[in-house]
Amino acid sequence: MNTNPGSYVVPRSVEEAAEILRAGNVTILAGGTDLMPQTQGGKVKFQPVLMNIRRVAGIRGIEERGEVVRIGALTTITELMDSALVQERFGILWQACDHFASDQIRNAATLGGNLCNASPAGDTLVPLLALDACVLLAGKPNGVLATRTVPLAEFFTGPGKTVRAASELLTAVEIALPLAGFRGEFFKLGTRPGLDIAGVAIGFGAVREGDRLRHVRVAFGAVAPTPVRAPKTEAALEGKALDAVTIDAAVKAAAEEVRPISDVRASAWYRTEMVRNNLRKMLDNARQG
Ligand SMILES: Cc1cc2nc3c(=O)[nH]c(=O)nc-3n(C[C@H](O)[C@H](O)[C@H](O)COP(=O)(O)OP(=O)(O)OC[C@H]3O[C@@H](n4cnc5c(N)ncnc54)[C@H](O)[C@@H]3O)c2cc1C
Repeated sequence: MNTNPGSYVVPRSVEEAAEILRAGNVTILAGGTDLMPQTQGGKVKFQPVLMNIRRVAGIRGIEERGEVVRIGALTTITELMDSALVQERFGILWQACDHFASDQIRNAATLGGNLCNASPAGDTLVPLLALDACVLLAGKPNGVLATRTVPLAEFFTGPGKTVRAASELLTAVEIALPLAGFRGEFFKLGTRPGLDIAGVAIGFGAVREGDRLRHVRVAFGAVAPTPVRAPKTEAALEGKALDAVTIDAAVKAAAEEVRPISDVRASAWYRTEMVRNNLRKMLDNARQG
């Protein structure tokens, strides 16, 4: 097992980081809260070059640009929680951060690392999917720095897998500001939700218009090889009066839509029951609120 890379580099700009990535054989290090346990445990082998990106300028912080908010890849979970903008406009993302690990991990763990680690149970993935976020990937395919934008719904391809090329750096996440009145709730199943990996995660958001829901967004984590949006569940709720019949139909659609597996954290049956019961609870909350 190789627990030591050959060389350690600390680029100061995206351009420099992309040039190093272009040369190949690089492991990217951000907060290290996934990477270090994975290398120490033998799950991941360091490439010959270990690139610490924490000093790369311009990829940290939260910035409102008109109707879009850009969150730099190096922004930590603590920084997301400290942001009034995130708390007020992206409440489900803020709630997910509030369920994320301990203070020590939150201080080191970055948003970019959470997305690139691509665990189906990653806590920020579910709210970001529900919020229709995109990721920005920078690379130098032809020797010139270029950035492509990928909708998060197309980013994940399997457990630990994404469409990001090894030569690309995730630089930021962009989220369009949701409509005024968009409210949501995040649920994470775990005996100690702050410290456990999610057995099931649910993100739900919508705008309430009278007794109806509009712009409904539902996403699930830890119930499929990647976090998933739930279009059939959303359709069962969109524009409908939020009564017992609608809630029953949405819960049924959700249970049919998820494809959980059984593992050490929960059986497939239990996960489906958790989706059913907790989505119902969230919709009841929305009905009462
Ligand atoms: C005790 C403990 C508790 C945890 N609890 C939770 C939890 O409750 N919820 C949760 O979701 N996660 C949890 N995690 C996992 C981890 O903290 C998060 O996934 C974290 O966000 C990873 O970010 P990082 O900056 O530490 O990434 P790193 O470990 O530095 O990197 C993770 C992966 O992403 C790659 N990478 C990082 N940044 C970039 C980038 N900008 N561009 C391209 N590739 C990049 C790295 O090469 C690596 O493969 C926990 C981990 C520990 C050790």
